[in-house]
Amino acid sequence: MDERLIESILDKVDRPARYIGGELGAVNRQKNEGDISFAFCFPDTYELAMSHLGMKILYEILNDTPGVICERVCMPWKDMYVLLKENNIPLFSLENRTPLNEFDIVGFTFQYEMNFTNVLAMLELGGVEILSRDRKDNSPIVIAGGPSCCNPEPMSSFIDAFFMGDGERGNIEICECIRSAKQKGFGRRETLLLLSQIQGIYVPEFYSVNYNNDGTIKEVVPNIDSVPQNPRRRIEKSIEDLPFPKKPIVPFTQAVHDRMVLEIMRGCTQGCRFCQAGMLYRPVRERSVESLMEYARAQEKATGYEEISLSSLSSGDYSHIDELVEKLIAEFSKKRVSVSLPSLRLDSQIKGALEEASKVKKSGLTLAPEAGTQRLRDVINKRITNYDIMQRVKEAFEIGYSNIKLYFMMGLPTETYEDLDGIVNIAKCISEYYYSLHKRPKGLRITVSTSTFVPKPFTPFQWAKQDDLETILKKQEYLRNSLRIKGVQYNWHEAELSVLEAAIARGDRNMGRVIYGAYKNGAMLDSWREHFSYDIWKKAFLDNNINMDFYSSREREYDEILPWDIIDIGVSRDYLMRENERAKKAQTTRDCRQGCMGCGLQNIEGVCV
Ligand code: SF4
Repeated sequence: MDERLIESILDKVDRPARYIGGELGAVNRQKNEGDISFAFCFPDTYELAMSHLGMKILYEILNDTPGVICERVCMPWKDMYVLLKENNIPLFSLENRTPLNEFDIVGFTFQYEMNFTNVLAMLELGGVEILSRDRKDNSPIVIAGGPSCCNPEPMSSFIDAFFMGDGERGNIEICECIRSAKQKGFGRRETLLLLSQIQGIYVPEFYSVNYNNDGTIKEVVPNIDSVPQNPRRRIEKSIEDLPFPKKPIVPFTQAVHDRMVLEIMRGCTQGCRFCQAGMLYRPVRERSVESLMEYARAQEKATGYEEISLSSLSSGDYSHIDELVEKLIAEFSKKRVSVSLPSLRLDSQIKGALEEASKVKKSGLTLAPEAGTQRLRDVINKRITNYDIMQRVKEAFEIGYSNIKLYFMMGLPTETYEDLDGIVNIAKCISEYYYSLHKRPKGLRITVSTSTFVPKPFTPFQWAKQDDLETILKKQEYLRNSLRIKGVQYNWHEAELSVLEAAIARGDRNMGRVIYGAYKNGAMLDSWREHFSYDIWKKAFLDNNINMDFYSSREREYDEILPWDIIDIGVSRDYLMRENERAKKAQTTRDCRQGCMGCGLQNIEGVCV
């Protein structure tokens, strides 16, 4: 690496701190201190990477594993990308400035489908062959994990092995496997075969896909004997004993979240029918208050952060939420450290927690009713009422919050304009209630945000169609006009992005050609408005003779083989079908902690009930 050249480039780019490493908490070891090198690749910018909990967890675990050196690599911003290319400098890690192609393992985390072109950009820039089939025996093994891997097929041409599920122990096993393959002098194929024996691993090249004439899948079959018929997601029985970061990295530049993070629980059994995370992370597993307090102390000492965030899919459902918040406030408020509660469900007993949290810092109340009417909330199994919403808002006003954020999803199955009016009514009621109060907190700000429904694999709505682009745009326009209410601001998600996300998320292996084509035509950093070009993607679909609507706005029959059916996440197809049928009748399903609903995990010994 030409250090002088790199330094001169850093002078020319926006936020050079993104690329220099050496932060407080970063692990800086010499390359020769280990025999396995692991590039933890985050396919988006440094600021997002440094806020990502999965990266914090695995970075510490891997670097604490004897013989393993884990370094971070992030997607550069466009200015840096261009300069690296122009100067023939390979994409390098933050710790030792090691080129990507010199690592044993290049491991990506897939959080969002619209980051897929960044993966290709990082591979190419790092000197790693983009296509898995072009890699040589001395190329790194490219793996990927994270929620967007649950349908691995769209990225199966670029990734050698996917890892499904909880990664704490699995990633250590992957390192041990690569070590063993290196010691035995294995070539690529033998190494991948060895990897395929680890639970949670899916190696696409060992499976063949055949198609029907109409473009649907006829069959997916292993093409060698020794791989599992349906690779199963890795599920850790308990997370209490799994390591959690005690000394996370403190970036030099502002990250999206500059704060301590405590993962209080993993999994959610509320069963919202659009929610992929709710199915992928089952069952619910909690950490104890004692160990969370210890992690908080260690992180505060190591970072000096002034905010603690509690992370989970549904923090209000954590069994000891009041006790935890109380203890955190009692211990940390003296140090002016605040506690934020990002994802409380509406119907949880949040008042106590809110009151405690507001002792240190007045922030806002965030609620996610998701749908505007009771009927549609029943369809999606969001078991909350308008009364619940107003109760929480009243409590928030009482304790001094005036900033209310409301999240809704637009385009849900069976949605009509009446449901959109329901969204407007909720905002109107809150605004009117606020102005009717004699004693009220200053400065009402109600932010209504709508995302667009994207049918996702492994949800009860995985067979559903998405609204077409024209319909989505019309509905957004309707809400824009209807939400002109005092104190209300409306945000919406870019419609074209949601349509593409739906097409890619439910794509098959053919989708890889579209992703490759889009990248070659200049698509990257697609989740950033200033870089996203719908036209590039439309052209990539057209060039490859692939119909976007076939993937995004087509309803699937139950007997169709879906691209992701090859993966066993533990939640059964039968359960998802049952839930989809209940949705059609607007029947709700209880939280399974009040009684097992037979989602499929009960059939795996020792995992849940
Ligand atoms: S097995 Fe039963 S209790 Fe466990 S997550 Fe599934 S439905 Fe819930």
